[in-house]
Amino acid sequence: MSTNRLDLAPGEYVFREGDPPTSAFLIESGSIAILSEQASGPVRLGVLGAGDLLGEMAIIDAAPRTASARAETAAVLVPVDGRQLSERIENSDLIVRALLRSQLARYRNVLSGRGGPAVVVPAVSVTSGFEANAKAKIELETQLRQALTARSLEVRYQPIFDIVEARIAGYEALVRWCHPTRGQVSPAEFIALAEETSLIVPIGQYVLERVAETLAELDRRSVAPMPFIAVNVSGRQFNEVDMLAAVMAAAQNQAIDPGLIKIEVTESLTVDVDAIALLIERAHQHGIKVALDDFGTGFSNLGHLHKLGFDNVKLDQGFVRQMLAAPRCLAIVQAIVTMVHALAADLIAEGVESEQELAALAAMGCRYAQGYLIGKPWTLDELLAKNP
Ligand code: C2E
Ligand code: CA
Ligand code: CA
Repeated sequence: MSTNRLDLAPGEYVFREGDPPTSAFLIESGSIAILSEQASGPVRLGVLGAGDLLGEMAIIDAAPRTASARAETAAVLVPVDGRQLSERIENSDLIVRALLRSQLARYRNVLSGRGGPAVVVPAVSVTSGFEANAKAKIELETQLRQALTARSLEVRYQPIFDIVEARIAGYEALVRWCHPTRGQVSPAEFIALAEETSLIVPIGQYVLERVAETLAELDRRSVAPMPFIAVNVSGRQFNEVDMLAAVMAAAQNQAIDPGLIKIEVTESLTVDVDAIALLIERAHQHGIKVALDDFGTGFSNLGHLHKLGFDNVKLDQGFVRQMLAAPRCLAIVQAIVTMVHALAADLIAEGVESEQELAALAAMGCRYAQGYLIGKPWTLDELLAKNP
């Protein structure tokens, strides 16, 4: 984490007026003076402290720095990748973008003396409008980017149990981020964040590479039969990456059968029926299976399901949670089991936590179960210890 930090001594410059924009900075500690270089010498426009964002203006409009920044005290800064900000701006509402740019142009005019003396600009304008939660988000995203670069994201493997054969048939890869101060952060939180910019793309690639490595290690151990490992693909990843080509490349690099990698797509993605149908068709040509994740959470567009040759349907945990207490829920699960079989696919029930739930699913003819009863997501070491 510390590799990217900038340690500044008092008096040291972060950047000077006229410098090209490189990155913005989050001030972790210390204070930074913003200076306007006048003929009479530098004029202090204001001071920024811990938690403030610095130098984001030049990133927003890709213009040279219009003020200098100098450490007043010893200071520690964390660079914020310029793409992180510019990508958000490019993707933002047109009007918001226009407002931002016009405010910025006005501010620059003032600074350059055309709209009045630079010194009238209050220091707070450097960060004004920059909402606290937006700042927290950018900070979190910066840390996530660093964790990815440092390869400290962890991939866990949750076992998927074949009820008929009474054995573990495969695993689902679930990414974990061990945050320096917050500890383990759930992907439920950071995947959504990573999806807001294309950071999800290198994260997905990272997970895929770890999965291929793990399969190669299991293969070296002559584990038989070889389990599959499923990877999650989210919306943006699906739109920006040729997932099939990525899976094939990862498998080839590790000299493993690509058919051991399974692709999980969520129900929300199936709105683009043609694109998903094409993915499934291409996947099947290479022996790769595709699962429909979180079935039953959206509107379960049954009108499209018959057109999509999914190999597995994953029943969302909400059903298993309620089915023993609610007969109507149990009836729906039974109907889903029957429907999935009729589509020549297998059902994987998620969130199985008790023996009773497993027994009920077995009685209904559900093929696979995943959940804390079978196992929580295992670390790589745990997985390898169980497959010596
Ligand atoms: P998901 O694909 O539906 O994954 C199942 C989630 O349910 C996992 O949460 C898992 O730990 C949790 N779970 C499994 N069994 C049980 C159980 O018996 N009881 C309960 N209460 N929970 C159970 P996790 O790991 O926090 O992942 C959350 C979501 O984040 C995943 O939902 C998936 O959509 C996403 N995700 C995880 N890893 C990746 C990844 O590498 N790439 C992408 N794009 N998304 C990922
Ligand atoms: Ca999943
Ligand atoms: Ca799921």
